[in-house]
Amino acid sequence: MADRDGLIWLDGEMVPWREAKVHVLTHTLHYGMGVFEGVRAYDAEQGTSIFRLDAHTQRLINSAKIMNMPMPFDKEVLDEAQRMAVRENNLKSAYIRPMAFYGSEGMGLRADNLKVHVMVAAWEWGAYMGEENLTKGIKIATSSYTRHHVNVTMTKAKSNGQYMNSMLALQEAVAHGCDEALLLDVDGYVSEGSGENFFMVKDGILYTPELTSCLDGITRKTIMQLAKENGLEVREKRITRDEVYIADEAFFTGTAAEVTPIRELDNRPIGRGSRGPITEKLQSQYFDIVHGRSPSHMDWLTPVA
Ligand code: PMP
Repeated sequence: MADRDGLIWLDGEMVPWREAKVHVLTHTLHYGMGVFEGVRAYDAEQGTSIFRLDAHTQRLINSAKIMNMPMPFDKEVLDEAQRMAVRENNLKSAYIRPMAFYGSEGMGLRADNLKVHVMVAAWEWGAYMGEENLTKGIKIATSSYTRHHVNVTMTKAKSNGQYMNSMLALQEAVAHGCDEALLLDVDGYVSEGSGENFFMVKDGILYTPELTSCLDGITRKTIMQLAKENGLEVREKRITRDEVYIADEAFFTGTAAEVTPIRELDNRPIGRGSRGPITEKLQSQYFDIVHGRSPSHMDWLTPVA
């Protein structure tokens, strides 16, 4: 990914893509203490627009606060950096990656006297789990890896080091012929996917795990709001894996994964083993909104121009 044309926003300046480098003694590279976001810009009716920019930037700022990293840029600058990263690379649609990380000024775990740097890159990225799976649904497996406990890492922060756990789980799932993992919390209840929040439908009610060990996902919040606007009852509760086996529908949500149906968990088909009707409705409303095709929630779109 490093060898391409384009510009990356780094500490307030647009730097040529190939020159946006750090030293091997970069602190975050060694210990994983850093915070980041995953944001998408869509080719919307009113021009390329970032979906829920405000919520993403606020979560980045909150993540830094949780991890005790002083954020050197204010919200307006961070918002504009993300718009610039899309605009100046002439992208019609994009995945945007802002990250705050410690520099190479020292190596101790005290992390005093370290500078916090911020970068924002943007590039074209299609459906995270493949276009076909948005219709067909994915096959997932319960992970042998447990999701973070609230007192081991800070689960409300989207922090770099947490993704070791995600990668272990995802690679295990893929090695077993699945598309994604379903991680359980320390008590054995459903938490989330390696990079997505989990939802299931049973008897017309939408269920999602409480925000204990899972990330407070922006797509999760979006889907919960759309469901309520559709008159659908939404319940946040502890969910067991056997409840998922006998659910009518299930899906994952995330900025990258968008709304991805789950067709199978642990070799058991969910519902009829394909995308369910409630999933399809929420998914299509989500795509209409992000592409500016829906008159509702236009305030969730920030044009980059
Ligand atoms: N959980 C995890 C672990 C994630 O990495 C993500 C992606 N940011 C999500 C959930 C979904 O969050 P969002 O909808 O804000 O992208």
